[in-house]
Amino acid sequence: MVLNLATENRKTEISSKDGDFDIEVKIPNYIIDTLKSRESHMCVSGKSDSIPDCDKNSAPGMITQRSCVYGGARVVLMPITDAIHLVHGPIGCAACTWDIRGSTSSGDKLYKTGFSTDLREKDVVFGGENKLYESILELNRLYTPSAIFVYSTCVVGLIGDDIKAVCKKAQEITGCRVIPVQSEGFKSFNKSAGHKLACDAMIDYLIGTKEPEEVHPYSINIIGEFNVAGDLFGIIPLYEKMGVKVQTAITGDSTVEKIAKCHHAKLNIVQCQKSSNYLASKMEEKYQIPTIKVNFFGVEETTKSLRAVSEFFGDEEMIKRTEELINSEIKNLRDEIAKYKKDLSGKTVAIYSGAHKSWALVSAFSELDMEIIMSGTQNGKPEDYQKIREHVCEGTLIVDDANSMELAKLLKEYKPDILISGAKEKYISLKCGVPHCDFNHDRITAFSGYNGFINFARVVHTAVMTPVWRLSKKMT
Ligand code: SF4
Repeated sequence: MVLNLATENRKTEISSKDGDFDIEVKIPNYIIDTLKSRESHMCVSGKSDSIPDCDKNSAPGMITQRSCVYGGARVVLMPITDAIHLVHGPIGCAACTWDIRGSTSSGDKLYKTGFSTDLREKDVVFGGENKLYESILELNRLYTPSAIFVYSTCVVGLIGDDIKAVCKKAQEITGCRVIPVQSEGFKSFNKSAGHKLACDAMIDYLIGTKEPEEVHPYSINIIGEFNVAGDLFGIIPLYEKMGVKVQTAITGDSTVEKIAKCHHAKLNIVQCQKSSNYLASKMEEKYQIPTIKVNFFGVEETTKSLRAVSEFFGDEEMIKRTEELINSEIKNLRDEIAKYKKDLSGKTVAIYSGAHKSWALVSAFSELDMEIIMSGTQNGKPEDYQKIREHVCEGTLIVDDANSMELAKLLKEYKPDILISGAKEKYISLKCGVPHCDFNHDRITAFSGYNGFINFARVVHTAVMTPVWRLSKKMT
């Protein structure tokens, strides 16, 4: 079945084996009323060559869904399991981002404990460097961690604490790696600046600081994969069956030592291209490790990602093993997927998420015969929106940095059958009578790889088919 969304009227053409026919469509092809300054932040794909206005400060007074630079740095480094993540700032910065990733660990759980220097008024007046120094010494004594990451926050930037100097001194005294992350929240309106700072911290203080005992001829690093809900546990076994050794993921389920030794891998594959392209390019520059972009959401994309690695190594035996693996995995999931697809076919989807997922999920939904009618992101750059345009159908609304009011209006007008986003938008969605699927950090089900796709289809199916939505649709 093929869905074609018309942009000039409100009809959807459906072609099937039984012939072509029209059905009533739920998709308005106009943009909702909003603040004058916000109108250019939305556009309909296919209506012109334009992309939404983006990569700018949020409009004053609106409740943006964005996070800060410190949050962007923390989200990248947090999954390093045997490190302490110490937030130098008032308690709120740490509290808002404690366990910011639902990353799981196969070993150490130290990263799950939140630590803060809890700066108070006195520290703002007299400086917080001593408090930070004492905190590092105390934490090292209590936990003997493999490393301590120290995050700078807005207040620290304002009072001018020299966290680099404190970390250096504390490292000399303790012998433990103490890594400063200069992530003052106000540095940028775009949390991607924080992703970059986190990558810089790894490049400057961690990667390449230890030599591996041996180097596997087919070793890879998986960059930008954070093991949310155990995603990696559905990916690593596939590569192992192919004969590929995963040195480490950066940073899901990783350890300080694994990352320190990852500079001899033969290939970097990049999953989240928003947070981690920068790190891959830095490693290419410094260690001559080539990069391949991958995507583990959906059957087709997972298959392509496995093939890309076997073709890169060019080993005939590996290529053969990979094809056998792909065939057997696809055979196992075909019936299961067909079961969900029967109900989900023709249902519509809105995505409001990180820039990577706003286009990387398109293929996964088309495998369920579902159609994306809106895709948006909080921090997209022009190249991200260009990618969304390339992936979605004509008539899809593309939105940048939507505020809560706009999201609620969009959901009411467009009436998608499901919203895919993070926890911040969950209750807006449910209150608007739109089923919701969390594809962000708080989810508890793995969605990557072949088994992950079955989980994904099941979760989406459960959300969409829950009987309560039939009642709420009658009420709206
Ligand atoms: S770093 Fe700044 S913007 Fe971020 S949570 Fe702390 S105070 Fe807020």
